[in-house]
Amino acid sequence: MKRSIFSLFLLIILVSCGATEQPSKVVKTSNKTTNNYWQQHVDYTMEIDMDVNNYQYKGKQKLVYTNNSPDVINHVYYHLFFNAFQPGSEMDVRSRTISDPDPRVGDRISKLQPNEIGYIKVNSLTQNGTSVSYETVGTVLEVQLSQPIQPGESVTFDMGFDAQVPVQIRRSGRNNKEGVALSMSQWYPKLAEYDDEGWHADPYIGREFHGVWGDFDVKLTIDEDYIVGGTGYLQGEPTEKSGKKTHHFKAPKVHDFTWAADPDYIHDTFQMPNGPTLNFYYKRTLDQQYLDNWKKLQADTALLMEFFNEHIGNYPYDQYSVIQGGDGGMEYAMSTLITGKRSYGSLLGVTAHELAHTWFQFLLASNESKHEWMDEGYTTYISNLAMNALSENKKSNPLSGAYRGYIALANSGVEQPLTTHSDRYAFNRAYGAAAYSKGAVFLAQLGYVIGEENRDKTIKTYFENFKFKHPKPFDIIRTAERITDFELDWYFIDFAQTTNTIDYGIASVEGTSITLERIGLMPMPIDLTVTYTDGTTEDFYIPLQMMRGEKPTTATIINDWAWAIPTYSFNAKKAVKSVEIDSSQMMADVDRTNNVFTK
Ligand SMILES: [Zn+2]
Repeated sequence: MKRSIFSLFLLIILVSCGATEQPSKVVKTSNKTTNNYWQQHVDYTMEIDMDVNNYQYKGKQKLVYTNNSPDVINHVYYHLFFNAFQPGSEMDVRSRTISDPDPRVGDRISKLQPNEIGYIKVNSLTQNGTSVSYETVGTVLEVQLSQPIQPGESVTFDMGFDAQVPVQIRRSGRNNKEGVALSMSQWYPKLAEYDDEGWHADPYIGREFHGVWGDFDVKLTIDEDYIVGGTGYLQGEPTEKSGKKTHHFKAPKVHDFTWAADPDYIHDTFQMPNGPTLNFYYKRTLDQQYLDNWKKLQADTALLMEFFNEHIGNYPYDQYSVIQGGDGGMEYAMSTLITGKRSYGSLLGVTAHELAHTWFQFLLASNESKHEWMDEGYTTYISNLAMNALSENKKSNPLSGAYRGYIALANSGVEQPLTTHSDRYAFNRAYGAAAYSKGAVFLAQLGYVIGEENRDKTIKTYFENFKFKHPKPFDIIRTAERITDFELDWYFIDFAQTTNTIDYGIASVEGTSITLERIGLMPMPIDLTVTYTDGTTEDFYIPLQMMRGEKPTTATIINDWAWAIPTYSFNAKKAVKSVEIDSSQMMADVDRTNNVFTK
């Protein structure tokens, strides 16, 4: 999503159901890839009937769940995200008790009337035809299985549910502020992910998502005048019956399914020469200036997609949809919901950001709740580069804003490590600066550490090896290590797992002797520019000893600096006029006042 945040729910609806009988077993060989990596698999089949008069819908869901883990599973959990939009929910209370709430949420949830709240009520649930007991606890359905699921086994869950679309508060909902009827994200009972770290049945408090990879087959029945866009591929023309149309979508190899619908949508398509069809859904009632912007956006979205294809890896699906909806911008499978009344720069910027999320978080499906900086930070990094590539006025450092944001955070006294769960930041602004800015600096600065070509190759290799999986934070660092043969664990540990800062300074310059000092705790290799009194300059490179290697450089490579030694001295060749540490400013030094010495 685009920066801004928040929150959710409680309200305990207890439902419970009797159990037992032996389910039949379907045993499949487990789907392991190399290095003993495994991930669970889901196949959803859903039939949804929407009533646009009261925004209530009925759903039937068949879920074939394959346990590729080496573990026996006794419980499963479903997310019931819409229950967040009820007074007293965790999202509601958190938003009313944090000191800097997301203005989109504020106290709005607490004021929702019964016909305005969101809910998903599960009416029935069976495992291989046998009833199981379950309980709705806020935004999570806790399910006690009638029969454990063995490693390699597939089971079928059949569920019936009733739901109500909330008035648009955050991301999803009805009648958003621009009048889009239905923004349907996080709208169905969604199985929580189980991986080698166990269950991730996070309550929906404010942020981000994690899901199980699989295939979706969804039939959406809605009044015939509604135009529907979203995840997946439409299977033929919608069928019609008594004033309603059924839109049948299939979406292979995704971990979520989102849609939006409005009777006033214009639907434009833009066919990329060697790529997917781009779809654009926006309201015909928009003012002319906005309609013009949505037309202009189409060819530029193709340019953005080409940029990401080239710099990360190829988009693997046959369509992508940019849809007016939601409450700002949020990324989904094969689609995004963005608000549409924007200046052209803003419309293009939000599209660049959300489209970039297709790579960072959708295809490289890191756990957004736990590792928010891997999706927001890497997305900020690559989308800033893409916007710069499309811009007529190129910036020398398209990430300079991210550096400023991170350095301000580091000096603010409220920084928490990037390993903080996205819901557990004390301040929304600290979350934002950490996830978006520091996360972006993580990749930009990796180029300073290992060299830009190595960093660019790392990103492409990381994508190739981890697409359609759930990479962990260290996977990109191991990728960089394999490409460079450097040791880089220190970079990950200090920058992501701690709030240690980078601060190097020039302690003294006497004659030709230059002494540097390490003031911050975080280690870094040092690029140094020396200007001699005769006006010539020379670049030096001081390798970090624990990195066990030197980046490719044209600078003069001098002795290693061992981290524990607080100072480092060497002699330049001629009388020195001035010295500067990291003139590129790609190292996130939190105090640059001591980086420059002039005689
Ligand atoms: Zn984002």
